[in-house]
Amino acid sequence: MSLTAGVVAVQGNVSEHAEAIERAAAARGEDVTVREIRTSGIVPDCDLLALPGGESTTISRLVHDEGIAPEIREHVTAGKPLFATCAGLIVASRDAGDDRVDPLGLLDVTVERNAFGRQTDSFEAPLEVEGLEEPFPAVFIRAPVIDEVGDVEVLAEWDGRPVAVRDGPVVGTSFHPELTTDDRIHDLALFESDAARRAALESGDAR
Ligand code: GLN
Repeated sequence: MSLTAGVVAVQGNVSEHAEAIERAAAARGEDVTVREIRTSGIVPDCDLLALPGGESTTISRLVHDEGIAPEIREHVTAGKPLFATCAGLIVASRDAGDDRVDPLGLLDVTVERNAFGRQTDSFEAPLEVEGLEEPFPAVFIRAPVIDEVGDVEVLAEWDGRPVAVRDGPVVGTSFHPELTTDDRIHDLALFESDAARRAALESGDAR
């Protein structure tokens, strides 16, 4: 079966996500086509979606201006996987604490931008992540802190704070898995979620 993955490409770490998705697909033996999303009309064709890191105020403005925001919401309402990293997590959150970000409300968390240190404080940490056997090399760059978590599963914590969460089909990380060559979180958030969704649909059909 062939899957279509969309990377929201209005701004941010687009090619890194596309490459990570392609590597994760290859490792699973899945056939994937990656499409970059700059306008409305493409998300409805996508099975999987990534919302990259970058500058959340810019990404927020452009996904709304281009009419991509409601399509991302429909994608998630349909139960399809969305993986949001760093600025993407901010945009996907319930409240970003910043008037310049109009959050999509797809992850039941509130965030504080740039609270994990300034640009100079960017750091890498070995992170225990729920569902992964070995620690993940997590790269934090002016990362948001997740303040309040609602009805979400916390997949990883750093320094006593959640840094990876799952809310149904949506996985968000404060850090940047796309900036490493370790594709396990892309696999978990996108391909494993999609396989689980399809299995659930099939068992539902069989009943
Ligand atoms: N500080 C950025 C923002 O608030 C996010 C940083 C990133 O994605 N690396 O948008």
